[in-house]
Amino acid sequence: MRGAQAHRAAVERLLASYRAIPAGQRVRLAKRTSNLFRARAEGTTTGLDVSGLDGVISIDTAARTADVQAMCTYESLVAATLPYGLMPLVVPQLKTITLGGAVTGLGIESSSFRNGLPHESVLELDILTGDGTLVTARPEGEHADLFRGFPNSYGTLGYATRLRIELEPVQPAVALRHVRFSDLDELTAAIGTISAAREWEGTGVDFLDGVVFSASEAYLTLGSWTDDLSGLSDYTGPEPFYRSIQRRTTDKLTIHDYLWRWDTDWFWCSAAFGAQNPKVRRYWPARLRRSDVFHRLVGVEMKYGVVAKVDQWRGKPARERVIQDVELPVTRTAEFLRWYLDHVPMTPVWLCPLRLRESGPAGTPEAGSQPWSLYPLRAGQTYVNAGFWGTVAIEPGKAEGDKNREIEAAVAGFDGHKSLYSDAYYDEETFWAAYGGQNYPALKQRYDGDGRLLDLYAKAVGRR
Ligand SMILES: Cc1cc2nc3c(=O)[nH]c(=O)nc-3n(C[C@H](O)[C@H](O)[C@H](O)COP(=O)(O)OP(=O)(O)OC[C@H]3O[C@@H](n4cnc5c(N)ncnc54)[C@H](O)[C@@H]3O)c2cc1C
Repeated sequence: MRGAQAHRAAVERLLASYRAIPAGQRVRLAKRTSNLFRARAEGTTTGLDVSGLDGVISIDTAARTADVQAMCTYESLVAATLPYGLMPLVVPQLKTITLGGAVTGLGIESSSFRNGLPHESVLELDILTGDGTLVTARPEGEHADLFRGFPNSYGTLGYATRLRIELEPVQPAVALRHVRFSDLDELTAAIGTISAAREWEGTGVDFLDGVVFSASEAYLTLGSWTDDLSGLSDYTGPEPFYRSIQRRTTDKLTIHDYLWRWDTDWFWCSAAFGAQNPKVRRYWPARLRRSDVFHRLVGVEMKYGVVAKVDQWRGKPARERVIQDVELPVTRTAEFLRWYLDHVPMTPVWLCPLRLRESGPAGTPEAGSQPWSLYPLRAGQTYVNAGFWGTVAIEPGKAEGDKNREIEAAVAGFDGHKSLYSDAYYDEETFWAAYGGQNYPALKQRYDGDGRLLDLYAKAVGRR
């Protein structure tokens, strides 16, 4: 545990580094890891010193809360809370996602159908705003506008330094049921039913996600807390977790292994590096089968384009990166999936249902309202996040980016929206209509009046 004094010293360093950046120059984070997927134009801006801001400050086991530094990865956070039998209400699947990144960039996981998104269990947070002031934002009070506008602001209003979050008790293991569906309408109907009832065939459901392999082969994985530690599986070895979903109907993992089940093979994306080929996998050190290692390999490819050059040399079509998480109302999800499987069609697709929390630190939102000012989720509505990550061949006569544009238009057509961590192509008007354009200017003016931080459109679409 880092302790309050060490935290204060780290914040002082951060503030000093802000003051050292000449007025008028842009300010950026100098963070070691990232899960962002946008290729960014190289900049000359100096980074803020975030050293010593990556730990857990304290855990209050009685109140079930933790004070956490914003650059703390979920891997470190979970390692600190599990020994107390506690975990954050939502733990994004990739180990190096940080608490601050997940709150500003809207992480999600299989507890989101009951716990909403990570920002909904934040009780208060300290933010270094664009104008260099350190403020504490809470659901009520002077900076409630920033509290509500921080999610989906992607560091364009300020950078969180400390967050106080709620924790929930865990049991030692999670029992899994992999339920197969051969019809997408039945699959999404089941998502709706389970999200509302929190049970399936008489057994409680504490975690819910799914994988679509094709229109006739999709699974929901229902997780239920258990203290029975017999018959545990381990997917850090030869078999990737996603393959077990097709092979087994039930399974069991420790809570630790359940939380990181997707990290080892970066869902299924490790296949792109040969890491699922048994001959390669045998020699690929287990400690290097992690999402951040694969992410770095993608970074190398984005920089040097080795695979793209080999493909070109072999006469293969150029490929477009399609890395998106989109959210559809559950009632339109089957239609979207059918469109996707006809038009994209890159599988598997990850499904993760979510509902805004019915009550939490930010109160009980009125049905139909949009309580978080920069992100278009409505209270009382079940959504399904569909995640698909990879590349597709660019069709003859089409240009790079066209497939992403097609997806953007289709998602909007099915009443959905998408996360902004990856490539986006919206024109400015469409973008602001979806992502809080009526609220953003006032927030920007109040917290970053001199524009020391980029604007959300410039960052999300302009790749700056
Ligand atoms: C392939 C892929 C799959 C993904 N899958 C999932 C998933 O399954 N579940 C999930 O939850 N999320 C997923 N994400 C999204 C991820 O949660 C977000 O991109 C998140 O913002 C990443 O957090 P990070 O800590 O790595 O932040 P970074 O990647 O470092 O930064 C993301 C953005 O947040 C800003 N930022 C970072 N820290 C702070 C801070 N302290 N204060 C203010 N702004 C900050 C940065 O400026 C940047 O604009 C996925 C992303 C990718 C690329």
